[in-house]
Amino acid sequence: MLNFTPTILKNLLSKSSTRLYPFETREPFKNVRGELKINIEECKLCGICAKKCPVNCIKVDKKTGLWEVNPFECVYCGICVDNCPTNCLYFKSEYQTPNQTKHLKTFHKIEKN
Ligand code: SF4
Ligand code: SF4
Repeated sequence: MLNFTPTILKNLLSKSSTRLYPFETREPFKNVRGELKINIEECKLCGICAKKCPVNCIKVDKKTGLWEVNPFECVYCGICVDNCPTNCLYFKSEYQTPNQTKHLKTFHKIEKN
């Protein structure tokens, strides 16, 4: 026990090595792939993102103007972002927040006359 005393005292008196998440979060790294977002006004509902997505978590319906993603199935590979012809898809630097229920993110494009 005496052998551990200096280590115990050091740990008690030094700063914590971990953060009090979720109250304290780390600054995200540059270019991190966080939450997937869409600028729906720029989207032309071509469906390329849905066709290219390896896990089929994007749904596009041109007739109803729907663009939908399941953020809990997304693997954040970035293929949809890289292949979008209008560059309306992008990643935020913050990660998708944890949730008790898995919900879809749905957007509707309103066509301008
Ligand atoms: S690839 Fe881009 S423009 Fe085409 S449906 Fe997807 S988000 Fe919209
Ligand atoms: S980042 Fe990858 S997995 Fe996520 S929606 Fe885009 S293509 Fe699909």
